[in-house]
Amino acid sequence: WAPDPMAMDLVREACLIDGAWVAGEDWIEVDDPATGEVVGRVPALGRDAAERAIGAAAAAMPRWAARTAQERGAVLRRFAALMIERQDDLAALLTREQGKPLAEARGEIAYAASYLDWFAEEGRRAYGEVIPTHAADKRLFVLRQPVGVVGAITPWNFPAAMVTRKIAPALAAGCAVVLKPSEKTPFSALALGVLAQEAGLPDGLLNIVTGDAVAIGGALTQSPIVRKISFTGSTRIGALLMEQSAATIKKLGLELGGNAPFIVFDDADVDAAVEGCIASKFRNAGQTCVSVNRIYAQAGIHDAFTAKLAAAVAALRVGPGTDPANDVGPLIDAGAVAKVEAHVADAVGQGATVLTGGARLSGHFFAPTVLRDITAAMAVTREETFGPLAAVIRFDGDAEAIAQANASPYGLAAYVYARDIGRVWKVAEAIESGMIGINTGLISTEVAPFGGVKASGLGREGSRHGLEDYLETKYLCVAL
Ligand code: ADP
Repeated sequence: WAPDPMAMDLVREACLIDGAWVAGEDWIEVDDPATGEVVGRVPALGRDAAERAIGAAAAAMPRWAARTAQERGAVLRRFAALMIERQDDLAALLTREQGKPLAEARGEIAYAASYLDWFAEEGRRAYGEVIPTHAADKRLFVLRQPVGVVGAITPWNFPAAMVTRKIAPALAAGCAVVLKPSEKTPFSALALGVLAQEAGLPDGLLNIVTGDAVAIGGALTQSPIVRKISFTGSTRIGALLMEQSAATIKKLGLELGGNAPFIVFDDADVDAAVEGCIASKFRNAGQTCVSVNRIYAQAGIHDAFTAKLAAAVAALRVGPGTDPANDVGPLIDAGAVAKVEAHVADAVGQGATVLTGGARLSGHFFAPTVLRDITAAMAVTREETFGPLAAVIRFDGDAEAIAQANASPYGLAAYVYARDIGRVWKVAEAIESGMIGINTGLISTEVAPFGGVKASGLGREGSRHGLEDYLETKYLCVAL
């Protein structure tokens, strides 16, 4: 049922700068990870283009910020409605460049649109304060104002949702944006540019520049006009952008890597835990930053849980995301396949047992894998695999599980399966993580604050906190 995405009006082999579609002299080719075919090409632009985009954003922002939040919200709501109207086309394009099954791609488009819809409303609630005064002849006020021009850099694993999660609160707050999408999946972002224009977003407020990440990232971080960098990607690049932003003292929103523990206690509903684990681990072939990475199963249920998990994973169907029969698509590229393969080899070399899968298939496909007898020394425990590999570690006591869960530089998501309410609270409070799924493997929603602690990042996206991150506080002291 999917139309050929390359024939669609949503496809742009051009960048969006100040409302104009700009071609390039050099190009970057984009592959379909399921087939290796070239999907299309996008301009390989650099510092000059990024600087022009920053200039356009700065020029466009004051008029946008001066509009009422309701007027800005109306544009964002039209944008969201257009995304839903074009959900199937956007999903087909997303699957083509990113690989995830079409059903997941459709889900991502709805999820992406939900941020536009949410912040269209939330923008109206950027309340200030009146502070009871410290002096009889003075009155104190706090205004919330847009932070300024925003530089947004997004990854390939959610090519649509990571974009709207940044541009929706930015635009709702009254900011203008220069977006650099991942060069692996730029078409979804560019398609959103088409819809933003159709929704009536004035020129210059959403600029999309594809090309040399180092040059564009350098221009965004060094510009004194850009007041905030919002980045989703690896901890390594996040730290680099933070360092580059130091000279101009920018605000930073960083959604970085994770290494999510998934703890199943003896009193858990084992079938529900298996289901939640699969939802979190194998969605997007394990390529999400909140994907389960370390599964801790308590001694009493360890064997039953592991056997059920292996049986359920063995039943997952792997293949191109365009075939609705498939549950797990390809990995994004050869490097991603090599990493999963290396984690399996390292674990098996140190005594792990393969219960199902364990090997690469053709192309960028990897068989959904379950390993048991995993230890803290193995690479799969220490690093984010970002692939369809579930690694199970046995544990005895609650304190041991908490200590092991926290023995990571990361702290994005964690999952706990247990029925004892006291245990749930204690564990949830003790785990160093920005988000905790309790008896669920699916936690993402636009209404809740998404983000991490420790090396997993700074700031929150979604919810009212997501708007806060795009607002600056101005204190007014009025003498009577
Ligand atoms: P991944 O390894 O998951 O691709 P990255 O952190 O490398 O994660 O990429 C996330 C985003 O950061 C992508 O849009 C990528 O192009 C961009 N990026 C990579 N290197 C840099 C850099 N030096 N400066 C700015 N952006 C960068």
